[in-house]
Amino acid sequence: MNQAFEGKLQTDLDALKKAGTYKHLRHLTTPMAAEVHMEEAGDVIVLSSNNYLGLADLPEVVEAGKRGLDQFGAGTASVRFICGTFSIHRVLEERIAEFLGTPAALSYVSCWNANTGLFATICEAGSAIISDELNHASIIDGVRLASKARRERFKHSNMRELEEKLQSVADCFPVVVVTDGVFSMEGDLARLPEIVELARKYGAIVVVDDSHGTGVMGKTGRGTIEHYGLTGQIDIITGTLGKALGGAAGGFVAGSNALVDTLIQRSRPQLFSNALPATVACSSLAAIEYLESHPELVERLRDNTRYFRDALNRMGYKPLDSESAIVPIIVGETAFAIAVSDKLLKAGVFVTGFGYPVVPEGTARIRVQISAALTKDEMDRALAAFEKVGRETGLLKV
Ligand SMILES: *Cc1c(COP(=O)(O)O)cnc(C)c1O
Repeated sequence: MNQAFEGKLQTDLDALKKAGTYKHLRHLTTPMAAEVHMEEAGDVIVLSSNNYLGLADLPEVVEAGKRGLDQFGAGTASVRFICGTFSIHRVLEERIAEFLGTPAALSYVSCWNANTGLFATICEAGSAIISDELNHASIIDGVRLASKARRERFKHSNMRELEEKLQSVADCFPVVVVTDGVFSMEGDLARLPEIVELARKYGAIVVVDDSHGTGVMGKTGRGTIEHYGLTGQIDIITGTLGKALGGAAGGFVAGSNALVDTLIQRSRPQLFSNALPATVACSSLAAIEYLESHPELVERLRDNTRYFRDALNRMGYKPLDSESAIVPIIVGETAFAIAVSDKLLKAGVFVTGFGYPVVPEGTARIRVQISAALTKDEMDRALAAFEKVGRETGLLKV
C-alpha cells in the first residue's frame, strides 16, 4: 500500500466530514417501495427514490425478471455486436420506440452509459453542442467526450442566450442542442416548445434526456415531450429504465433508424461493454407494458404530488414551484439541510438533503420526490414529521 496516497485520500475524506458534506450510505433490507426497512433507521417512508410509479416491487415486474433469468441466464458474456444480443433486446427496444413515438431505440446498461455513448459518436470535428448549464452530470461528461466538437453552454433555460450560442456556431454541422426534460434539483421543465422553435430556425437538432420525466409527465406518462404535445418532433431522446420504468437499471437512446444504426456501428459503450442483462430487459419491458395499460398511475402520482405540495404550503413551507413530481424545499446552508434530513429520518421519513457543490452555495435543499405508491395515510404521517421537524429546527415559525 502506498502510504502517501492513502494519506491523501484520508485527508480529503476528513475535509468532507469537517464540512458536513460526507455521505453515509444507508442500507435497505426490503424492496424499494413507499415504505422500506433500513438497517440504520428501521421502517421508514421513502420520499427520495425515483420509484415514481411504484413499479420497482410490482409482482408483474419482478416475475418478468425471474422469467428472463430462467430463459436467458445471467447475461450475455459478450458485447452486442459479437454475440451479446438476445431477442429480448430487440423486443424491448421496439417497445421503447413505440412508447416514445420514435422510429427506433437502442438500449444501454444505463442512461449514464447512453449519454456517454451518444455525443462522441454523432459529433465529430466541425460540429457543435450547446448544453443547458444545469444539465445532468452524465450529459456534461458525455459532451466532454465529444472532444473534437465545439462545446457551448447557456444559462439555465435562458432562451436569449441559447439563440446567441446558436448564432455563434453558424459554421458548424451538425449543431446539437441538449437539455434535461425535467431538471432534477429544481423539478422544473425545459422550455421545449421554444427550444424546438429556435433549433428549427437555426437548423439544429434537439436532444432531450427525459430521465425524470418518463413515466411522470404527460397524460399517459410518455414524458415531458408528451406534456408539451411535441411527440414526433424531438430528434433524439435519451432516458433511463432505472427510475419510473421499474427502477432496475438500463438506459436508451431513441430516434431515427439511421441514428440507432450509427450507434450500433460506432458508439463505444455498445462496442466495448456488455449488453443490458436479459433479466433487466424483461422486467423493464413488463414495467413499460404495465404503464401502458395503467395510465391512471400517472394521474395518481399527480394527485399525490398536488396533495403533498398543498399540505406543505399550508404548513408554511415554500417549496419551489414545479409541474413534476420533484418538490424541493430550499433551507439555506448545506450542513443545515443535512441536519434537517437527519431529523426527518429519526422521525421515520427518508428524504435527502442536497447542498454545495451539487447545488449553488446557500441554496441547499430538502428534495422531496413523490411516488404513486404512497397512500394518503403514508403521506399524512410524512407530513406530520415535516411539521414536527420544521418547528424543532425553526424552518417553520411557531
Ligand atoms: C438519473 C439520470 C441519469 C442516469 O440514469 P442511469 O440510468 O441511472 O444511469 C441520466 N440523466 C438524467 C437526466 C438523470 O436524471
